Amino acid sequence: MKQVFSILLLLMLASMIPNLLMAQIPADYPASYASKPRFKALIYFTTHAEGQHVDFAKQAITFFQKLKFGDGFILDTTQDLSLYPYEKLKEYQLLIMLDGSPNTDSERKVFEQYMENGGGWMGFHVSGYNDKTTNWPWFLQFLGGGVFYCNNWPPQPAKLVIDHPGHPVTQNLPATYIAPASEWYQWNPSPRKNKDVDVLISLSPDNYPFGIKDVIYSGDFPVVWTNKKYRMIYLNMGHGDDVLSDATQKLMIINAFKWVLSTDKKGNPFKK
Ligand code: ZN
Repeated sequence: MKQVFSILLLLMLASMIPNLLMAQIPADYPASYASKPRFKALIYFTTHAEGQHVDFAKQAITFFQKLKFGDGFILDTTQDLSLYPYEKLKEYQLLIMLDGSPNTDSERKVFEQYMENGGGWMGFHVSGYNDKTTNWPWFLQFLGGGVFYCNNWPPQPAKLVIDHPGHPVTQNLPATYIAPASEWYQWNPSPRKNKDVDVLISLSPDNYPFGIKDVIYSGDFPVVWTNKKYRMIYLNMGHGDDVLSDATQKLMIINAFKWVLSTDKKGNPFKK
């Protein structure tokens, strides 16, 4: 009995240690532990997509779910954007699109309103796809004006070049890295020609001729960029189950995730 009491006493004391530590935290303490979720993020994905796009989406959901371990933020997922009218969507500091974009007029209007009013967006691969049939001029300008032009096939690794060293998204990345296999899209005109676009990473010309069945021989090839008019980043990787297999690329994606969130006009959630 006495032993049980001692153990209980020890447990009680141990539970008080964090509180004691909190009370003594000096002003220059280097860490900030979240006492409540710092922000809300919403993932949109669809299973009505090319199989390898769904493969990526499933892996990416697991990837982002791991980032919220410890309840650092709230992460919701949906396959139906019609469930998120503007008043509900605006509660999220970040909307991540993994393998699709809004299709109906009403979903598109809500997305426009969200982005025009300070919403945050991180879009992968086919979620930024557009062509002559897309009929969404706003989305085209949002992405920087480039229309899908061509792609390599099959998916393969590629040498990427950091165009904007010193940007938070490229923090701690090497000057070049070999990205895991993906299908890569080239755009026309290149988003780099848009003065509002900041190209952060592009596919190196060293890759040319690039492809086996479908081969790309030349051309400017941005793969990660932001349109500075919005709180957004587009990342072209996102085809197949290899995209999240590389530490450098995962670091870049986490950098991108944190950067979009950190630019929230209501304040940087990591400095709360
Ligand atoms: Zn693809």
